Amino acid sequence: AKEKGGNTFQLYRSEMNIRSLERLNMEIDLRRAMERGEIMVYYQPIVDLGSGRIYGMEALVRWKHPIRGMISPAEFIPLAEETGLIVPIGNWVLKEACRQNEEWISQGLPPLVVAVNISVNQFQQPGFIQLIKGTLESTGLDPKLLCLEITENVAMKNVNYIVETIDKLRELGVRISIDDFGTGYSSLSYLKRFRVHTLKIDQSFIQELTTDEENAAIVTALIAMSHKMNIKALAEGVETKAQLEFLRRYGCDEIQGYLFSTPLPVSDFEHLIRVNRNL
Ligand code: C2E
Ligand code: CA
Ligand code: CA
Ligand code: CA
Repeated sequence: AKEKGGNTFQLYRSEMNIRSLERLNMEIDLRRAMERGEIMVYYQPIVDLGSGRIYGMEALVRWKHPIRGMISPAEFIPLAEETGLIVPIGNWVLKEACRQNEEWISQGLPPLVVAVNISVNQFQQPGFIQLIKGTLESTGLDPKLLCLEITENVAMKNVNYIVETIDKLRELGVRISIDDFGTGYSSLSYLKRFRVHTLKIDQSFIQELTTDEENAAIVTALIAMSHKMNIKALAEGVETKAQLEFLRRYGCDEIQGYLFSTPLPVSDFEHLIRVNRNL
């Protein structure tokens, strides 16, 4: 039995080594990815339910690896967070999204609001406000056409600092969304203190919205609550017509999901908004 235990340990250890080696390789690759232009941004439309038109888009990072192909952010964002690489990557995505949005406007396309995911790390970097200011200045984008998406767990670290930073961002004219609302370390008292423009209802509540009574109760309550607080409600992960009808009935303001469009590369998104203009 002792010997068997030893073998199990050996096996476990070599698996660990392979895993940490893979991780190390991935970290080295990720460090080079930006220089090599392998990091890119896809855009997923956000639709205003009142008008039925595209209101904005979420910038979603993609890694086009030369051997492994397209790598999902779910696979490399956690590593990027751990290694601190999320700061240069996230700052690049922010600048690229602002630059691209301004380029579309200068081409005469209708102005849209671009939403950018901001990680805890980025948000807590000294000089974050200055970074946002500088990015808006250098790209020439109107501050009200930029929305920053922060997750609730950002809040956990230092609430006073978050409240202050959000207020300063609002003064700049930038919009703020709370992402993945209802998951993680959610607390309604934060929602009260963080003066945000939009609440993004997490997609886990939208799935089975029309077949699960608890999800339906949560979603209708979140929509009603945000409206009473003068906050817009956005449902993410909308995949079916039935979900859309439900959300429309309960007055949800905006939707995002595969039903309307998956995240698209720049040229496909541009095509979509050109067609949308002609509707
Ligand atoms: P998120 O911010 O919650 O983004 C929404 C995710 O849901 C995206 O996954 C999007 O492709 C996916 N999605 C959209 N509509 C649907 C739908 O109808 N059904 C389903 N099943 N999924 C849908 P993606 O692009 O893989 O991104 C995953 C996560 O990675 C994001 O979740 C976000 O937390 C993170 N992420 C992406 N880009 C960035 C970035 O630039 N910076 C940071 N810090 N995080 C990012
Ligand atoms: Ca998001
Ligand atoms: Ca989300
Ligand atoms: Ca999510």
